[in-house]
Amino acid sequence: MKNYINGEWIASTGTETIEVINPATEEVLALSPLGTVKDVDKAVAAAKDAFKTWRRTPAIDRTQCLFRLKTLLEENFESLVKLCTQEHGKTLVESRGDVRRGIQMVETACGIPTLLMGQSFEDIATGIDCQAVRQPMGVFAGITPFNFPAMVPFWFWPFAVATGNTYVLKPSERVPLSQIKIFELIEKAGFPKGVMNLVLGGKEVVNSLCSHPDVKGVSFVGSTPVAKHVYQLSTSHGKRVQALGGAKNFMVVLPDANLETSVKTCLESIVGCAGQRCLAGSVILCVGNTYDEVKKQMLRAASDMIVGDGADPRTQMGPVISRASVERIKGLIQSAIDERAEVLLDGRNHSGKGYFLKPTVIGEVKPNMRVAREEIFGPVVCLARVKSLDEAIQWINNSPFANTASLFTNSGAAARQFSYEAAPAMLGLNIGVPAPMSFFSFGGAKDSFFGDIKAHGQSGVQFFTDTKVTIQRWNKDSNIW
Ligand code: NAD
Repeated sequence: MKNYINGEWIASTGTETIEVINPATEEVLALSPLGTVKDVDKAVAAAKDAFKTWRRTPAIDRTQCLFRLKTLLEENFESLVKLCTQEHGKTLVESRGDVRRGIQMVETACGIPTLLMGQSFEDIATGIDCQAVRQPMGVFAGITPFNFPAMVPFWFWPFAVATGNTYVLKPSERVPLSQIKIFELIEKAGFPKGVMNLVLGGKEVVNSLCSHPDVKGVSFVGSTPVAKHVYQLSTSHGKRVQALGGAKNFMVVLPDANLETSVKTCLESIVGCAGQRCLAGSVILCVGNTYDEVKKQMLRAASDMIVGDGADPRTQMGPVISRASVERIKGLIQSAIDERAEVLLDGRNHSGKGYFLKPTVIGEVKPNMRVAREEIFGPVVCLARVKSLDEAIQWINNSPFANTASLFTNSGAAARQFSYEAAPAMLGLNIGVPAPMSFFSFGGAKDSFFGDIKAHGQSGVQFFTDTKVTIQRWNKDSNIW
């Protein structure tokens, strides 16, 4: 696998590689090179050079590349889906969602001539007018996680380049194949040399992007410790940063909810993508007398799930990403047993090849247990009893994370209280995965987000541009005619 720099596929200068493994079969799909500072220097120099002409290219011309890319992505949709399933393990249906959400980002960024409009105001004082425009800033970098191989990079770069910046992407070293394919399409779409660059690698590439003097801003998505590190390193080098971190997401079921649909929605949220979504539910807070019924229905639904290779269309849940993940999740389930929760369905008994776990259901979870506090990132349903909506909101707001939370109810008053008081920045009302679409902004709060300006939608336009205000007076008597 090669880097894509200045319009060419060139070998990484790194000598180390990491295996890209199909988590369903343990087959080694490829060796991903771990790039170096030299690769970053080359990519940033190419992007810096390309910026000189790209920023002067009219927005309506810049978007033609995105329109062409959209067509190419549609033509290659199923092959991207297949790659995504191969390297990540998610089901084909989930991979279709992954790729589709990515394409929607390109579609939204195609509207940049409208989204990028500034403001103007006549006569801010007598005879004086004011205009504010948004200007691109230069080279931006993106660093992305394994769990949405196709979609997450699209959260950023289409908005960056549509607004006139140039870009360097470092995808997750565990799932680089979808991005290699997408960059082949980017090349075909005819972006000028140096506008889009790809550097494969791990820590060394990340750290050099975050400290490079010619990188104006960094978008990061991944775990909270690395998000904090990226935020601190990049801001200490004077960069704009948006760093989206980990999560611990709660789902509240009120007695007036439709329990059957609520349980199904909660289960899909928790075990979809084998629990590896930043918006995955984790702990179901059963209010009042709902606990026993939720438990009964959850056990029935979770036991019925078909677990297997995501490439098989019958599969409802694929593997997790690695052997290390399997062991980490098993350790968390064991911690629940040690802390006296009830393991009602134990998904640790999968044998044979592949990094599989079956859905696990843990009951009688209490706020101080590890499974109630830590991000599990696996197919584990935690059930807890709470007396009231107030207690549920308190539990949610005591978490250091604040990515998302959901409420299941038929009460408008309860929904209003929840929307008003719950701390997470993306909320669902009778929705299990409240993922904002490309034309809204995406990002959590507290330890789930470091920075000020969130991803995509209008926030994407703001993050990748700086405002410039011009105040002007033209005296009438200065006219020569
Ligand atoms: P990760 O933090 O291990 O890796 C993310 C990126 O950081 C990768 O590109 C990786 O190469 C780099 N990286 C890893 N360790 C590093 C280090 N020590 N120094 C510098 N760079 C390093 O995350 P992951 O396991 O790939 O993804 C899962 C995590 O991402 C979960 O915590 C999940 O909640 C989070 N996530 C959050 C969102 C969100 O919107 N908040 C979305 C998707 C995923």
